[in-house]
Amino acid sequence: MSKVNSLARQIVQDLVPYASARSTMSGGAVWLNANENALAPAYQLAGTFNRYPSCQPKALINAYATYAGITAEQVLVSRGADEGIELLIRSFCEPKTDSITICPPTYGMYAISAESNQTAVSKVLLLNSEQLDLAGIFATHPKLVFICSPNNPTGDLIPREQITAVLEHFSGKALVVVDEAYIEFAPEASVVPLLSRYPHLVVLRTLSKAFGLAGLRCGFTLASPDVINALKKMIAPYPIAEPVAQIAAQALSASGITQMQQSVATINQLRNDFIAIAQQLPGVKRVWPSNANYVLLQVSDAADCVSALINADILIRNQSSQLGLSQVVRVSIGSPQEMQRLTKAMQQYFSEQKPDTKNDNKRESA
Ligand SMILES: *Cc1c(COP(=O)(O)O)cnc(C)c1O
Repeated sequence: MSKVNSLARQIVQDLVPYASARSTMSGGAVWLNANENALAPAYQLAGTFNRYPSCQPKALINAYATYAGITAEQVLVSRGADEGIELLIRSFCEPKTDSITICPPTYGMYAISAESNQTAVSKVLLLNSEQLDLAGIFATHPKLVFICSPNNPTGDLIPREQITAVLEHFSGKALVVVDEAYIEFAPEASVVPLLSRYPHLVVLRTLSKAFGLAGLRCGFTLASPDVINALKKMIAPYPIAEPVAQIAAQALSASGITQMQQSVATINQLRNDFIAIAQQLPGVKRVWPSNANYVLLQVSDAADCVSALINADILIRNQSSQLGLSQVVRVSIGSPQEMQRLTKAMQQYFSEQKPDTKNDNKRESA
């Protein structure tokens, strides 16, 4: 180890690097471990790139505001929704003093961004991995409450009455951040219509999932102008590269949105077909319903299942380290061909399992 390491802040020396789906597992032919969209359209770039870009490109902000049905003053564009999460924590949480509340099992970046900002994390587990524990949440005193809906990795929508109850409770005390990274798969469930009623509501969105642009790194934070202006003070001067702005604007054009909606319809159908098949597999103990482009399965031995599929060149994700999820894997919905390969490989794997692992606790699909 070089001496340079000891020059870093103590918190940096102590941090464990984030293990993303892409960093922990690459290779393999079929990637079903990061909730990406396999049905991605191609894009073109035009022009020169000698000038610095606008911090918040107007055409892009206007396009997203129109798509979401809100005003341009309510929109911030960032380097993925992940940067939105980080900006919220850095803008609203005093290091070593404030805290955030999260509801595991859920998306990992809330806790990771909090940790790097020396912000404590209160964890209030989802009930039966689908409903908020309101009493538990109300017993915490955070600056930010993160609610993910559809929740990654469980796929559940958090009931709107529960979100409203959290908003009412924390009025004037904390921001309530609803992460809608997968909302295009269940658009009627969006809480964006509540923005006009609750100045402390924040909605996170991304082009990484339904729009098929994970490689672009483009996300949006939707909130009252006061919240957006606070985040603008913290964001870097040029967070959105010109090529990113150009491609994102194409994705948000009328034809781009139509394409996205068609791929969502295809994926929702593939997902429902996969759930029906998974429910019949001996050895799959539980299949979660899903309102997004992934499905959770409880199996006898998650690590063994993941490695059996790797041998078939298919990557899925082990979620067993999540609070409340034991022996659980998450499968992202890929192309029709990829889902065929997956189904075959899973049928093969589970037919080789011992019969005592037969399904006991199946649930209805969404
Ligand atoms: C993928 C994901 C994000 C991050 O989106 P990016 O725009 O790619 O940074 C945020 N929240 C949830 C729940 C996600 O699954």
